[in-house]
Amino acid sequence: MAVAGVDGQLVEIEADIGQGLPSVHLVGRPDTTLQESRDRVRAAVSNTGEKWPDGRVVLALSPATLPKVGSVYDLALAAAVLDAAGSIPSQRLADTVLLGELALDGRVRRVRGILPAVLAARTAGRGTVVVPTAALPEAGLVNGIRVLGAASLGELVDWLRGAGELAPPEPAAPPLIPPTGDLREVVGQDEARWALEVAAAGGHHLLLTGPPGIGKTMLAQRLPGLLPPLRERESLEVTAIHSVAGILSDDHPLIFSPPFVAPHHSSSVAAMIGGGSGSARPGAASCAHRGVLFLDECAEIGTKVLEALRTPLEEGEVRIARRDGVARYPARFQLVLAANPCPCAPARDIDCICAPLARRRYLGKLSGPLLDRIDLAVQMHAQAAGAFSGEEVESSEVVRARVAVARDAAAERWSALGLSTNAEVPGHILRQKFRLPREALAPVENALRHGRMSARGADRAIRVAWTVCDLRGGHLPTAQDVLQALNFRQRGAA
Ligand SMILES: [Zn+2]
Repeated sequence: MAVAGVDGQLVEIEADIGQGLPSVHLVGRPDTTLQESRDRVRAAVSNTGEKWPDGRVVLALSPATLPKVGSVYDLALAAAVLDAAGSIPSQRLADTVLLGELALDGRVRRVRGILPAVLAARTAGRGTVVVPTAALPEAGLVNGIRVLGAASLGELVDWLRGAGELAPPEPAAPPLIPPTGDLREVVGQDEARWALEVAAAGGHHLLLTGPPGIGKTMLAQRLPGLLPPLRERESLEVTAIHSVAGILSDDHPLIFSPPFVAPHHSSSVAAMIGGGSGSARPGAASCAHRGVLFLDECAEIGTKVLEALRTPLEEGEVRIARRDGVARYPARFQLVLAANPCPCAPARDIDCICAPLARRRYLGKLSGPLLDRIDLAVQMHAQAAGAFSGEEVESSEVVRARVAVARDAAAERWSALGLSTNAEVPGHILRQKFRLPREALAPVENALRHGRMSARGADRAIRVAWTVCDLRGGHLPTAQDVLQALNFRQRGAA
């Protein structure tokens, strides 16, 4: 299987043993890692106790036009040579996809991207796939294809000869609940909690500003816990990306809850959206697919990195053009930005020592394409003593239940348009087909008329108003819902 991005394509390997000086030739656009396979495969075959054929060995990988990268073909190359030499029977090979790198002593090593490769093998209609034993938990997530694990080339050869068995995956371990923390632990900050609930219900991107230590990170970490668990298809999609990124857990490979990814503000473009030297890897934006991408201290992020985030925000995926083709990584995430209110980052607003211009400019670089997509902005302030009065604080579970009801209402309303959350609805639909009654729109039109709001700002406020309405179980946003939505904008706009 050749895996580019998260898409796999079947590669067929042919071997021919001819007259001539003993040599090995690889044809079909192999990269340098694959060229090195010749020596690895040869050593592994000999050290397994099998005879390497005399003469000229030609190995052809097809389709010839498809670039092939990496060491995942080792196991299949070895099997092809042994088959051509008549050392093993062909029957089982015909319907089997082989995945794995070989060590010199014949052990089968794990490679990245096993899950998307197994999914593609199933799509290609193959009946069996053999993977490195270490990758069995990951490969075993795929139903509808027989998955077997080989620890060594010797084990594979025995199985092909009908002289031994290969291990199937263990029954899946019970899913591990990731420790994301509970909203109950967030004391006070009622407005920010409410913003988080609205963000979760409508799928809105969120900007949190406030002094250091106020709890912006703590709040953001609790957003995934308010979102519905991933559906089966989404779960495999996210797990496939993490498989290619090489960050899957061995014991609990399946990712079934929305991921939370928090790259450092000094991250490079490649770390943020994917790429890098060698075979391309997904970046933080793709690892956060169907979950939350949290960018702390976002005012410190380089302009190039912020620019690079535009494509995933607009298109929900990242495409990386490379010498070996285009790698495609899904990247549909909910963005949470956090920032200090100004460069000096005082604990209390009145202690700020920044010049007014520096204060205004600080968040200015976020403006334009990025800030345009943020529907919600909240300024967090140090708490008054009353916040510790010991009042009952709502748990994530209680909020998640309200969020689920609101999300269902939105999904039903927009389903005919192929959309599921309020955040995805384009402005022209909000303004025409789903136009609010005149009295509900009055606060927005008033702000527009006095130049206190842009047309895009008005669209954002109406999107949020729909979510506020969904959360209270309403059918159509009222002026009250619109005012609540506007409240977020005005307080947030520093
Ligand atoms: Zn300051």
